[in-house]
Amino acid sequence: MTTGNINVSVENIFPLIKKFLYSDHEIFLRELISNATDATLKLKHLTNIGEAKVDYGNPIIEVKIDKDNNRLHIIDQGIGMTADEVKKYINEVAFSGAEEFLEKYKDSAKDSGIIGHFGLGFYSAFMVADKVEIITKSFKGESAAHWSCDGSPQYNLEATDKTERGTEIILHINEDSKEFLEESKISELLNKYNKFNAIPIKFGTRTETLPKPEDAKEDDPAPTQKVDNIINNTDPAWTKQPADLNDEDYKSFYRELYPMQFEEPLFNIHLNVDYPFNLTGILYFPKLTNEVNLQKDRIQLYQNQVFVTDNVEGIVPEFLTMLKGVIDSPDIPLNVSRSYLQADGNVKKISSYITRKVADKLSSLFNSNREDFEQKWNDIKIVIEYGMLSEEKFFDKAQKFALYPTVDNTYFTFEELKEKVKDNQTDKDGNTVVLYAGNKDTQHSYIAEAKERGYEVLLLDSPIVSHLIQKLETSNEKITFARVDADSLDNLIKKDEEKISKLSDEEKEKLSTVLEEVVPKEKYTVKLEALDSAASPFVITQPEFMRRMKE
Ligand code: ADP
Ligand code: MG
Repeated sequence: MTTGNINVSVENIFPLIKKFLYSDHEIFLRELISNATDATLKLKHLTNIGEAKVDYGNPIIEVKIDKDNNRLHIIDQGIGMTADEVKKYINEVAFSGAEEFLEKYKDSAKDSGIIGHFGLGFYSAFMVADKVEIITKSFKGESAAHWSCDGSPQYNLEATDKTERGTEIILHINEDSKEFLEESKISELLNKYNKFNAIPIKFGTRTETLPKPEDAKEDDPAPTQKVDNIINNTDPAWTKQPADLNDEDYKSFYRELYPMQFEEPLFNIHLNVDYPFNLTGILYFPKLTNEVNLQKDRIQLYQNQVFVTDNVEGIVPEFLTMLKGVIDSPDIPLNVSRSYLQADGNVKKISSYITRKVADKLSSLFNSNREDFEQKWNDIKIVIEYGMLSEEKFFDKAQKFALYPTVDNTYFTFEELKEKVKDNQTDKDGNTVVLYAGNKDTQHSYIAEAKERGYEVLLLDSPIVSHLIQKLETSNEKITFARVDADSLDNLIKKDEEKISKLSDEEKEKLSTVLEEVVPKEKYTVKLEALDSAASPFVITQPEFMRRMKE
């Protein structure tokens, strides 16, 4: 038996770890399962390249609660450790063995999916346990080792008689952390962090109903058997090739990801890149019918199939945070501040890659099935319009597929619209005037009059429409927008000056005395003429600039 001091420069690192390592104590389970997963994947890799001559089999990771003894066990069938390796990898705190492994097998292990790199992962166990034991047997066949430590820098290490390959971690859960002995709590954590873990995780057993045998009688009960309760899907859709997935696969993965989300997504974008950074994922455009879900079911960030966070601010451009789905990238630095994240070169590249992929997908949907795209427009426009305002590159691409619907549900691209109105809707300064309404009902009579004159009237009702208009005006020369109830309609050059009022001179005079009293002159213009066939005998308009000032 060996006793020794854990090699740290600080006198006692554990109080520090407990306090500062992670504000969230629950992540200890994620760290230990990540280590168990790494240990298993390392063994897989070594057997693949012929360096480990053992039967890899179908290894699983088991999580077990022993409530009577206040213990939590995490057991794997991975690579294991010799006593020397325990000394090296466990006792030298902040020495990341995962990094060393990857360094050594740099080329061959690049895609092995090994997770660890913080170096303090294992010690996060001391946030919830006042004693931790490791019982481990290396695939190399040396005798098993038993390490234990009660949270002081002193540890014990002795030989033990474990016969199966792999590692068992035993946590003696401390007084303040009893919740981690509750089945419901561990279930919740496994479901949160490890729902898509690459190695199967067993948590208890469940009863499975078997098919009835051929000769069973009508009311014989179906036979049952106890099977391992595996809590995870080890190959989620985003880890597969897009060519191997169909529409239904994407939809069912969406349901797997958001079991409480009943609305189907509109379409998906499969992300898959390995240079100059590694990133996979699937993003979904949701149907925006339910505002509440916007907040709740957010994009989830994973690293090697382990959940990290659903706060992707700084990684995904802000306008795309309204999307749903998964991003998995080992190249996003964790445990750093958001401002650091935004300055990180890789993260910047990732963000612009995602923007580009989204624009390309929208573009191809538009080109391949415009009718369908038009139908979805109302659900997707907010994201697209917001993107056009916030990302110049996205704006340039979106110019080709962003749609501008008229009050009669004709959808124009901006180019089409310009072409359509350029002859009929020009003002005295030679600008093309784009007319729009914000509300079909309240602006009904203005719309009617404009249509009567043969103008196209757009229906622009997003909350950010005034910003979008400004953007379009500044990036297109000789284009101005005017709302249908603005007086700029009068500046339009009329083709046929056929404006016959329905009112007699006498009626006009009476009416203007009345209107002068009720309509504030400095704000509105009253025009006692309208097209013969229009519904209203007069119109009240407001200068466009005054209206914009109010917004
Ligand atoms: P990291 O995972 O970032 O390397 P950790 O502190 O989580 O850092 O773990 C330190 C090292 O201890 C690992 O790299 C690995 O070599 C070893 N280790 C931890 N858990 C296991 C395990 N279950 N099986 C085998 N080795 C392990
Ligand atoms: Mg680790």
